[in-house]
Amino acid sequence: MAGKLIIISAPSGCGKSTIIGDIMDRGELDLQFSVSATNRKPRPGEEDGVNYHFLSDEQFQELIAQGAFVEYEQVYPGRYYGTLRSEIENRVAAGHNVILDIDVCGGVNVKELFGDKAMAVFIEPPSIEELRRRLINRGNDSEDSIRQRVDRAEYELGFIPKYDHVVTNDDLSRAVSEVEALIREYIGKE
Ligand code: ADP
Ligand code: 5GP
Repeated sequence: MAGKLIIISAPSGCGKSTIIGDIMDRGELDLQFSVSATNRKPRPGEEDGVNYHFLSDEQFQELIAQGAFVEYEQVYPGRYYGTLRSEIENRVAAGHNVILDIDVCGGVNVKELFGDKAMAVFIEPPSIEELRRRLINRGNDSEDSIRQRVDRAEYELGFIPKYDHVVTNDDLSRAVSEVEALIREYIGKE
């Protein structure tokens, strides 16, 4: 039986990487992580081929020209992110379920392409103020980048109706359990 796609989207800083990491660490579900490509620079602790395939601007444009992406977005000015066909097609054909951490527009595009073969979950922050605090506490982004992410978050929350499920990431362990339960129910279905 073919595998399914689990799309986890949220404005940056809402906690989707943390939630996906916790679910993968628990290891209770058969899930493989789709490693996206990006032309942004790695943050401290991020590894090429693990968190992202870190590419140059030229390499990213070359892959676009080759049709290597299922979807890609310029999420921030000059910053591209994309889901590689090679990360999902063979795995799904081999019966594995694949989990994607992608932006809100990319998530909607993948859901439209895969229909019932994909479940789209939106992670929302308890509030915009709390989102700003988390971005500041994460300590990876400049003041400008935080402003950009918060502004974009307000726009992205408007995409919630296009998602199958919404989970509020207030208490982290509750949010992880909720997402895990949604995935378990979805992949258990024929
Ligand atoms: P995203 O992948 O959506 O950009 P992250 O997973 O990097 O977000 O989370 C952003 C920051 O918020 C991180 O520093 C993370 O540790 C923190 N965080 C995540 N979930 C919670 C939560 N429920 N309560 C408080 N802080 C959280
Ligand atoms: P960050 O720079 O914080 O890692 O990611 C910024 C945004 O890009 C996040 O919303 C993240 O989900 C999104 N993103 C990561 N990979 C992809 C992808 O393959 N496609 C799209 N459309 N967005 C992605």
